[in-house]
Amino acid sequence: MKYAGIVENDVVNGEGVCVSFFMQGCPHRCKGCHNPETWNFDGGKEAPLSKIIELVLNAIDANGIQRNLSILGGEPLAPRNQYPLSVLLWQVKKTFPSIKIYLWTGYTLEEFKEMCSMSENILQYIDVLIDGRYIEEERDITLKLRGSKNQRILYRGIDY
Ligand code: SF4
Repeated sequence: MKYAGIVENDVVNGEGVCVSFFMQGCPHRCKGCHNPETWNFDGGKEAPLSKIIELVLNAIDANGIQRNLSILGGEPLAPRNQYPLSVLLWQVKKTFPSIKIYLWTGYTLEEFKEMCSMSENILQYIDVLIDGRYIEEERDITLKLRGSKNQRILYRGIDY
């Protein structure tokens, strides 16, 4: 599968120390996007899904310290990314049931549920969902976990 990269100790995306996994490909093309190199679905790096899962699992508890997991992009919820994402999330939660999983998407929660027949299979693993496209005119650098005011922070069990 294609992916954009992994940051093993990230204190910017998510809360506490996280492993950040950047997926490849995004259909939204928001003006002012900070990661335009992730737009091309054929770009980025390539590795078998099993290898990526191994990399992520090893990074989560490197040095015996468990980290949370942040999934970013690109667009993790794009149709092409949905199946590998669901397998990755399943394996991570099975191995580390107590860590938090954050996911950033350019779709709204409602758009994602409408377009994806397996949306519940993915959402069940995500503790915190940050949704909505980046809108440059609504940019606000003081916002927690978000780039623009239209985006929402949604919690599993409360909002979905
Ligand atoms: S959804 Fe995210 S990665 Fe995609 S274009 Fe918008 S800001 Fe960039």
